[in-house]
Amino acid sequence: MFFIYHKKINIFLTLIIQILVINISLLLTSKEVNSFPININNFEQKTKGNQNKQLPTIGKFQLQYNPTSKYQRFQRNIQASRVFNTVVEKLNKKNLNLPVNIPIVFRDCGEANAFYDLKAQKVIMCYELFEIGESVFVSGGYSQEQAQVRSIYNGVFILLHEVGHALVDNLDLAFTGKEEDSVDDFAATFVLDEKNGLPEEIIWISGQFFSVLPDGDYWDEHSFGQQRFYNLVCLLFGKNPQQYVGIAEQAGLGKDRAVRCHSEYQDKVSSWQRLLAPHYLYDRDTPATNTSNSSDPLY
Ligand SMILES: [Zn+2]
Repeated sequence: MFFIYHKKINIFLTLIIQILVINISLLLTSKEVNSFPININNFEQKTKGNQNKQLPTIGKFQLQYNPTSKYQRFQRNIQASRVFNTVVEKLNKKNLNLPVNIPIVFRDCGEANAFYDLKAQKVIMCYELFEIGESVFVSGGYSQEQAQVRSIYNGVFILLHEVGHALVDNLDLAFTGKEEDSVDDFAATFVLDEKNGLPEEIIWISGQFFSVLPDGDYWDEHSFGQQRFYNLVCLLFGKNPQQYVGIAEQAGLGKDRAVRCHSEYQDKVSSWQRLLAPHYLYDRDTPATNTSNSSDPLY
């Protein structure tokens, strides 16, 4: 049971201390995120064809910020950014047939972590994770303000990773290989789906974060941080090789992998589309295969 259901990402504080002494400046880029905070008003409206239809009650993702005495600055910054409100809104617009509401709880954890609590059916985002994120990016040469933005963007990817676990559990989704890799793919393809309007910089930023995590054991349920970094670089490059060839070169992505990234990206997008397709609540009169009346039909 442990090996199946242990879904915590291993970002323990003691290990992170090791990270801070690693010179990661060569891995980090000065590329600035220029679209922060995300403008929630830019997002497309709900499917027009369903405006007069009464959709059945379904479970929703629900954002919750618990009070904190130790991490008040982080809580304020996270809430003020409204980035997570935007992400949750986009998730709920998918109208996935979730059997229960799934709270996404920001709180003190006593460790830098994020996880899907299988028993409580909640996603937990620890404020400590954002503190560590800032430290990692400051160590990489960014200003406090830049590091703060990057830490929040990294939090978006990690939130979507945990949402992936929640979907696997609540929708009983099939997977092969490591579930951890599969939900990384969910998070990446969600970010890279232009319909969702999220900054693609999230992929690069979170990849950088993973790249400096210390390696776990060979039997760990997670791939090594460097592998997660290159998987994300491959998906980013694979989505648009012309646009991101510079990122692939900067990351040192090997040509033997790079030539496969475009088809790999398409395969990952298609796989998650097919996994989730049976779980969308479509208009009764709209066949699942006909997406012409839906503005945001398949993810
Ligand atoms: Zn995980």
